[in-house]
Amino acid sequence: MNDPAAPLDSLPLRDDLRGMSPYGAPQLQVAVALNTNENTHPVPGEVVEAITQRVHETAASLNRYPDRDFTDLRRALADYLGHGLTEDNLWAANGSNEILQQILQAFGGPGRSVLSFVPTYSMYPLLALGTGTEFIAGDRAEDFSLSAESASQQVRAHAPDVVFLCSPNNPTGTALGLDVVRAVYEAGEATNTVVVVDEAYAEFARFGTPSALTLLEGRPRLIVTRTMSKAFALAGARLGYFAAAREVADAMRLVRLPYHLSSVTQATALAALAHHGTLLATVEDVKMQRDRIVDELKRMGLTPAESDSNFVFFACHGDAHEMWQALLDRGVLVRDVGIPGHLRVTAGTEAENTAFLEAVEDHLSVR
Ligand SMILES: *Cc1c(COP(=O)(O)O)cnc(C)c1O
Repeated sequence: MNDPAAPLDSLPLRDDLRGMSPYGAPQLQVAVALNTNENTHPVPGEVVEAITQRVHETAASLNRYPDRDFTDLRRALADYLGHGLTEDNLWAANGSNEILQQILQAFGGPGRSVLSFVPTYSMYPLLALGTGTEFIAGDRAEDFSLSAESASQQVRAHAPDVVFLCSPNNPTGTALGLDVVRAVYEAGEATNTVVVVDEAYAEFARFGTPSALTLLEGRPRLIVTRTMSKAFALAGARLGYFAAAREVADAMRLVRLPYHLSSVTQATALAALAHHGTLLATVEDVKMQRDRIVDELKRMGLTPAESDSNFVFFACHGDAHEMWQALLDRGVLVRDVGIPGHLRVTAGTEAENTAFLEAVEDHLSVR
């Protein structure tokens, strides 16, 4: 049988997949899991009722394929986003990861490239790999910021087919100025580069942070992606979406699998959107808790980045893995994002964050 140390080596895998390991934050059973940026508040009862009712109505017709064009859902998403968008501008898939994959299937692929600015979302290189797209790791300033000048200069230097801008950026937490998005878009004019702004955390941005949705008008190569996994507290439902020119949404029909959004997924998302006010009510609480983590970590002498998201990236002034383990030993799971001297923690409920802050303080007192 297979060598257990290298179980995949005997398979005729694609050369570019050999030796790769799958994406995966550890799914450990711990009291306080603050490692994957979920909204840790449970789904409110009113929304549970609405989803149950709508899925119940769908169940009897699960013998039929779903609405392939999920028109009702696209309309509901357009209504939620506003900005004069209609269902023609909207597209959805099973999480924004599938959205990004479909974008690369349509605009990337063999012989093409995608540029992003690291450190950023760790799925980008893996989505590039899976679609045979070359991943170009652009860089950021020492403090992880990205200026319009640096970003546009890198776009001109690499002439990529696609650019991924993560704003607010995961894992560092800070939103990009719209000047960066504008400059990158203009720098990509000569090469017809598709510019994707991944706004998975947009609902958590600090007051006055504008969305790239405001730039869509007149920019046919711009795509703004969102998800229901974070602010909407529906990570388990798998629903991501984008807004763009209608031609971009039409292009996705060339690469999506037929009936990729199940009737159950559509029913769940529609019910959730009908109650978005209730679902998003936890966002203000999470933002307050996020700011509390930033303040408290500063008080303890650590260096957190300013955050527009539901997580905090911080310099721990010591060995990151050692601190990660010390927190886990105290029942708190955070994320070691592989950046030396830094960790990332999701802002959970008040009680979860108290447990995290106490574990940090305890660790610092003995280290
Ligand atoms: C969590 C996250 C996503 C969302 O993934 P889903 O597939 O929608 O759950 C997308 N982009 C970034 C940067 C994320 O952190």
